[in-house]
Amino acid sequence: MTRREIIKLCGVSGLALTIQQPLSLFAQFDNKMEKKKFEVIIIGGSYAGLSSAMALGRSLRKTLIIDAGKPCNKQTPYSHNFLTQDGRTPKEISEIGKNQVAKYNTVKFYNGLAVSGKRSKNGFEITTLKGDIFTASKLIIATGIKDLMPEINGFSECWGISVVHCPYCHGYEIQNKKTAVIANGEKAIHLVSLVNNLTKDITLITSGNKDFDEIKLEKLKNNNIKIIDKEISEIEHHNGQLEKIIFKDGSIEDFECAYAPIPFEQNSNIPKELGCEFTENGHIKVNFMQKTTQEGIFACGDNSTMMRSIALAVSSGNVSGAVINSELTEENF
Ligand SMILES: Cc1cc2nc3c(=O)[nH]c(=O)nc-3n(C[C@H](O)[C@H](O)[C@H](O)COP(=O)(O)OP(=O)(O)OC[C@H]3O[C@@H](n4cnc5c(N)ncnc54)[C@H](O)[C@@H]3O)c2cc1C
Repeated sequence: MTRREIIKLCGVSGLALTIQQPLSLFAQFDNKMEKKKFEVIIIGGSYAGLSSAMALGRSLRKTLIIDAGKPCNKQTPYSHNFLTQDGRTPKEISEIGKNQVAKYNTVKFYNGLAVSGKRSKNGFEITTLKGDIFTASKLIIATGIKDLMPEINGFSECWGISVVHCPYCHGYEIQNKKTAVIANGEKAIHLVSLVNNLTKDITLITSGNKDFDEIKLEKLKNNNIKIIDKEISEIEHHNGQLEKIIFKDGSIEDFECAYAPIPFEQNSNIPKELGCEFTENGHIKVNFMQKTTQEGIFACGDNSTMMRSIALAVSSGNVSGAVINSELTEENF
């Protein structure tokens, strides 16, 4: 395989990796693969998947990472709250991870989308969009989640830049700004109480369906939280930097930033296809060892926790890699 072919196979996100790593890592990798056997397949090669791969690579496990290269935080300019990497771009962090994992030559990378999975004689068979088929005895689902943007003009352009989901990730950077919290009910109370420690200028936007009892309303009032119970029609912004919120009744308010806990869905249908159970919130059910309800299938990162951060994705990925290695060791010893 020529260098050009390898770069084509690995796509844009694989480019840096290809250039920085010895070609031998990829040279064994044939794009026209039919069935290829691994001990572990990891679907999703962002923070959680890479962390699993590191534990497995260091244990000499024949591991394949299938990654479509679309992490949820790609639009955020800088990532925070991950020790040793605070303030780096999301891409810098994952590229450091990829380069470190690529040093372990039992780990292979495949850039593409896994589209279906089924149980096979000795484990699992995963098919990609290009029609490649891979098998392994264990499976790690590290596919993350997809944030579902509300139908508000300008919202998705501001997402991760000035409209954020998490005070731990971005609150410090937007402290003391004129802040909107777009939420309602219990979620709103929880978020507002956290944000209240970072700025004293908070307006809660409840979108025409205010849902608080008298005690909660009193609490909000005592903390000087303003409430606007109107639906938003548009967010006016400059390059993702929120400037104004325009309401459906035509009124306009100036803001500098907003918090918005928005709904999500799983990125991949494969865990469902394979019979994994889900929590009420839509996360893949796992135990403290990241095992799903299906034997041989593990899940880690955002797809299986409400606590959404790179640190926790890396942590749960590391656990799933170590537990799988331990299971394989016991099975083969
Ligand atoms: C806007 C925003 C800003 C954030 N900022 C911060 C921050 O500052 N600090 C922080 O700690 N956390 C932050 N987070 C949270 C953090 O990004 C996530 O917790 C973390 O990315 C989760 O890692 P993950 O590996 O589980 O999923 P992701 O990083 O989302 O990656 C999932 C990967 O799986 C791939 N994939 C999915 N399905 C398939 C498939 N079928 N086949 C192949 N590949 C597939 C995707 O393409 C992607 O590469 C932020 C999140 C968002 C949305």
